[in-house]
Amino acid sequence: MFYFTKTPWLLKKLYPECIWDVKTDEKILYLTFDDGPNPQATPFVLQELKKYNAKATFFCIGKNVKENFDVYKQIISDGHKPGNHTYNHLNGWKTTDKKYLEDIRLAANIIDTELFRPPYGKITKFQLKALQGEKFKLKTIMWDVLSGDFDEKLTPENCYLNVINKAKPGSVVVFHDSLKAFPRLEYTLPRVLEFFSQKGYQFKFLS
Ligand SMILES: [Zn+2]
Repeated sequence: MFYFTKTPWLLKKLYPECIWDVKTDEKILYLTFDDGPNPQATPFVLQELKKYNAKATFFCIGKNVKENFDVYKQIISDGHKPGNHTYNHLNGWKTTDKKYLEDIRLAANIIDTELFRPPYGKITKFQLKALQGEKFKLKTIMWDVLSGDFDEKLTPENCYLNVINKAKPGSVVVFHDSLKAFPRLEYTLPRVLEFFSQKGYQFKFLS
């Protein structure tokens, strides 16, 4: 499977209407967790974040919020920020605009947020524009560092190295609070928090 661990500048230029990172010289990282809430992975993430007083953004799948509403409530009560990641984890390139937007609307009924992240990072210009409009008022958040935690062929050590070698002040880093990613997430997240805390970084949610 091919993917960029560091988002190329050209991609950022082609989609200037998305947020890829935050311009800052301050030592701040924006950790994001996609595809939850999950009853095993999410509580682990919350517990690790708490140890460092770290805040993060959770791009939740609507269906998972419905199935694991207690876990979702815990994310909110711990002071983190929720984001919309569609209701059924749809690929915008392979879905009609109507169906895609309806699915996001469905997720918006249970996830109260102004932030959106397209599953697989795949969204059309038309869909982006629709989400920016009056009806949705959603900001689309991409990323500049992909941990690769979803990649079953990646060793936990290399997942960790992806993040510590690529993240810089203002980076938006992607993890997944899912069972599939858990073997790598479980190894990487505590070490990333430790490494960047020692360097004087803070972890904040996107707003
Ligand atoms: Zn996803």
